[in-house]
Order: sequence, then structure tokens, then C-alpha cells
Amino acid sequence: MTEEEITFQTEVRQFLVEYLSADLKRSGRNMTSVFADYDCALRWHKILHKQGWAAPEWPEEHGGTNWTQNQRQIFQRELKLGGAPAIMALGIQMLGPIIIKYGTEEQKHHYLPRMLAGDDIWCQGYSEPGAGSDLASLATRAERDGDHYVVNGSKIWTSFAHRANKIFCLVRTSTEGRPQAGISFLLADMDTQGISLSEIIGLDGTVEQCQVFFSDARIPVTNLIGEENQGWNVAKYLLEFERGGHNYSIDHQKLFAKVRAIAGQQYAHNGICYLEEPAFSADLAELEIDALALEYTEQRIKASDAPGSLTSVAKLAGTELSQKISALSSDALGAHNAPLQHAALEVDYSGKVVGPENAITTFAEYVNMRAATIYGGSAEIQRNIISRAVLGLR
Ligand SMILES: Cc1cc2nc3c(=O)[nH]c(=O)nc-3n(C[C@H](O)[C@H](O)[C@H](O)COP(=O)(O)OP(=O)(O)OC[C@H]3O[C@@H](n4cnc5c(N)ncnc54)[C@H](O)[C@@H]3O)c2cc1C
Repeated sequence: MTEEEITFQTEVRQFLVEYLSADLKRSGRNMTSVFADYDCALRWHKILHKQGWAAPEWPEEHGGTNWTQNQRQIFQRELKLGGAPAIMALGIQMLGPIIIKYGTEEQKHHYLPRMLAGDDIWCQGYSEPGAGSDLASLATRAERDGDHYVVNGSKIWTSFAHRANKIFCLVRTSTEGRPQAGISFLLADMDTQGISLSEIIGLDGTVEQCQVFFSDARIPVTNLIGEENQGWNVAKYLLEFERGGHNYSIDHQKLFAKVRAIAGQQYAHNGICYLEEPAFSADLAELEIDALALEYTEQRIKASDAPGSLTSVAKLAGTELSQKISALSSDALGAHNAPLQHAALEVDYSGKVVGPENAITTFAEYVNMRAATIYGGSAEIQRNIISRAVLGLR
């Protein structure tokens, strides 16, 4: 790091000492997926916003920062490793850049400040029961009726739809030509008459995803982003942020810290502490080497002006490695994986826990991590993209 970067890092650390309260820190530490406790995430969002740090990646004119790539990296690392809860990122990380690129002046003026302040919480309505990897086959229909679209259909796996007040979705506005040609990008209020949802219980027993239903929901035409039937280009631009905007190497550092803490307290069947056990420590070393290689790759991708399909490399390698590291934590934890301890994950929990204190997240994290190679484009789809667009295979 340069001297300026060290000064910047100190500034971020001081900010954390001042504003990251014990309960916020606990919510960050107790995360078992990409989402933190909702109330804590919102509180932390407001604190970051007040500091002007809610959307470091956005251009300064829209409320972002003028930070270099290295500063952003330092910022994210300090927050994550310092135990800050993740904020609800679907708006800021995904929809924000879309509105900045494709939105009208009115849309920018209306949506961006609310997103920045955490006043609107967004969810993403892309996937449908019959359209996941093959997204272009989506069938949720939007028919024009005067100044409104009348929307009918259903979206599924919509993360945090039960807490969001807004949804951005892909809808079919034409059945002519290629399937991609008849898709539009539409924003809606979740409390619009005709929009309802049912919650989906995840493998860890909690609700993070929902199915959202549209039944003659009337959505103003002014909520269209970009042109009618041009939504596919907008969607593809957004996916670049979904796949490339993430910093997997920082996730890995957090996961490795957990593995080491758990393995340092647990003993293998031969009575040797896992950290000293040759087979376990060889597995750990191998993953650490892979993580270091990925960290450099990620930095090269981020430094590129047009990362394009290379973001698929980071997404694929990053998620697969996260899964392997979380599996190692589970291995070391042994029988303590068994009890599901939802109550112990609550921010205000003060009772006893089963097994080591630092391991209450391990099993839930392990099962939730299985989804990382599905959402944002499955591992198989990323391999297809890499083979065609990066390696030029046919
Ligand atoms: C935890 C979680 C959160 C999610 N959040 C959201 C959200 O907020 N918003 C949203 O819109 N969606 C969300 N999704 C949905 C996600 O984007 C889809 O699950 C994903 O795109 C895969 O689609 P699918 O589930 O329909 O599986 P399918 O597309 O039916 O795939 C089934 C299997 O076939 C493989 N496969 C499919 N096509 C090919 C091919 N051409 N070549 C090789 N293999 C192939 C897949 O890799 C997979 O293994 C979420 C999913 C999960 C699990």
C-alpha cells in the first residue's frame, strides 16, 4: 500500500471503531449467507450513508466516491473483516448502475437518492418457475393499457422480496422474433394491488427467498427502464455487476479466519488438533494457495476497463472455493454441526450455545453456500460462457 492508502485505511478503521457498535458487529459476525440481520443492515446502511460511503462504486455526481480501485478494495476488506453487516445490496450494487446508465433524468433524480439513503429496499425479479438459466424464455407478461402495463405471471427465488418495498423485473412485452427481443425492464412497488408473495423456507430453516405473483398488477409506463423490448441489454449489463461486483477474495479471508479458529479448538480422531493434523492442514494450505491465485486474478479483472465475460471466471472460481472452505469448517466442527441454533444467531441472544461459540454459523453457512453456484448464473452456465467467450471454444 502507498502512504495515502495506509492513511485511508486508518481513516476507515477509525470510522469502524466509532460507529460499528457491538450489536452491529455481532450481526456481521453471525451472517450465514450474503444477507445480514435486516434491521442491523438497514441501520448500518444509514450510518454509511451519513458518512457518504453507502455506494463507493457510484460516480461522485450521483453520491458515490472518487476512490481508486485500491481504496475500494481496502474499504470492503476493512468492513468485512472488521465484522460490519452487509447492507441490502441489490439496489446499490445492481440497479443503481443500471439507472445511471439507462435511466431518464427523472428516474435518476427520483430513485438514486432514495436507494442511497436506504429508503427503498429492492429485490430482483428475473427468474421464473420455467425460466432460470434459460432466462430469455421468461413468460411474465406485461400488456400495455394506456399509461400502464398490466402484468401477469410469477417470479421465483426472489431474494428478500418479503422485506423489500420495490422490485425490478424482466417482463415479456412482445412474443415476436427472438425471445430476447421481446423483454422489457420494469420497476414496481411491492404494495401494488395484484402483487403478492409466498415465502420459501431455505435448507437452513430460515426465509430468504420468495415466490412473487403478479395478477393484473397495473404498473405505470414511466417505470420502464430503457426502451420497451430492449430489456435484455439492460439485464445483461446488470448481470456483469452481479457476477463481477463481488469481492470473493475478501470472503475467503473471512472464511479462512473461521476455519483456523474452529480447527484450532477441535481434535481429530487421533487426538491431534486439526490445525496440526497433516491431512487437514494440507487441505487448508491447498485452498489458501488457490485463494491467493484468485485474489490476483480478481485484481486484474477489476483493473480492466471492460471485464465482460471475465467476471464469470471470478464468479465460478470464487463460489466454488467458498464452498470448499466452508466444507472444511464443517469437517473440523464434526458433531457440533448437528444442532440448528437459530436463536443463538439473533443479535440480542444471551443464552448458551451448543459447541464452540464461534461455530454457531458453520452449518447454516455450509448449506447456504451450496446456493452460491446456482444464483447469479449456475456454475455450469459460467463454464459455458468461459468456454465460448473467454477461451473461444465452439
Ligand atoms: C439462494 C438463491 C437466491 C436467488 N435469488 C434470486 C433473485 O433474487 N432473483 C432472481 O431473479 N433469481 C434468483 N435466484 C434464481 C437463480 O438465478 C436461478 O436459480 C438460476 O439462474 C438457475 O436457474 P434454475 O433454478 O431455474 O435452474 P435450471 O436453469 O433449471 O438449471 C438446473 C440445472 O441444469 C443446469 N443447466 C441448465 N442449463 C444448462 C446448460 N445450458 N448447460 C449446462 N447446464 C445447464 C444448471 O446448471 C443446473 O445445474 C436465486 C437462486 C437461489 C438458489
